[in-house]
Amino acid sequence: ITILAIESSCDETSASVCKDGAILSNFIANQTVHEKYGGVVPELASRAHMQNIVPVIDTALKEANTSLAEVDAIAFTQAPGLIGSLLVGSQFAKSMALALNKPLIAVHHMQAHVLANLIEDPKPSFPFLCLTVSGGHTQIVLARSATDLEVIGETIDDAAGEAFDKTAKLIGLPYPGGPLVDKYAKEGNPHRFKFAEPQIEGLNFSFSGLKTSVLYFLQKEIKANPAFVEENLADICASVQYTIINILLKKLKRAAIETGIQDLCIAGGVSANSGLRTALKELGEKYGWRTHIPSFQYCTDNAGMIAITAYHKYLAGAFADLSVTASARAEWS
Ligand code: ATP
Ligand code: MG
Ligand code: FE
Repeated sequence: ITILAIESSCDETSASVCKDGAILSNFIANQTVHEKYGGVVPELASRAHMQNIVPVIDTALKEANTSLAEVDAIAFTQAPGLIGSLLVGSQFAKSMALALNKPLIAVHHMQAHVLANLIEDPKPSFPFLCLTVSGGHTQIVLARSATDLEVIGETIDDAAGEAFDKTAKLIGLPYPGGPLVDKYAKEGNPHRFKFAEPQIEGLNFSFSGLKTSVLYFLQKEIKANPAFVEENLADICASVQYTIINILLKKLKRAAIETGIQDLCIAGGVSANSGLRTALKELGEKYGWRTHIPSFQYCTDNAGMIAITAYHKYLAGAFADLSVTASARAEWS
């Protein structure tokens, strides 16, 4: 079974070809137009998707050495995301399905982040837990099967990616700051500065307090020493990153203990963070849990994760018809 998948939920235009569960290509076009605005500008994202989508799909097919005639189904990201961005991919996929008379598969972007863990070996066995940490979401997902996923914990305010990006902005780093915090943290002391950790019941998360705590801390220190940030950049980044990772893994650990599930995964853009990857591995070693970490190209937005999800939906007979529409928000079903 060969699937062509399109991802266009935010600011990456991506296409992937998947054959019998193996990803043959995963081509991603990053949009650079947003950098100077300090965040994704929705209108510019839609326009860039329009420019990118044909060459991106062409490249994915070529890299996979696959012709359109060999494709058995067209998959696309239906929700959630920026509506203008989602519309470009969804309308394109629907048009292709109609023109080529092929079945259509609609994919939930956050479920696809989770199922990115099914791309590479060794794969987690069901049921598994996934900590999904991205630019817009922070969730603990219980995956009973590829088509039975349940959110058992999530953030009540900012996402982990926002926590990285917003604190990075306070530190004076350009958008998106997450990867830069990761980079500088490598040289720093994670125990040098202490920041507030939220006391949230159950498996939910909160990050707005951390942002405030970093803001007040920096204001106070800069008042005493205007060069404070420059002089302590690595330690600040390492300490902020350490706090975020601690908040995240405390809850994942709790979920593992409460459910008794021993296969733990991470997903989403923040799972590219080197500190989080190392800390998860260490947690697994300490408790004897199997941990799974997708390679970088499957952490941030990519069509490979849409393709693998679509492959499992194909096997389950979960097809969409041409009346399906993109949606900025989505029921988790
Ligand atoms: P969503 O999937 O919730 O709709 P999104 O698709 O925009 O959001 P992703 O592309 O999965 O999110 O992730 C982007 C986020 O990941 C950004 O906040 C970015 O700063 C963060 N990020 C990427 N790499 C790293 C890293 N190495 N360390 C920390 N954060 C990172
Ligand atoms: Mg993105
Ligand atoms: Fe995403």
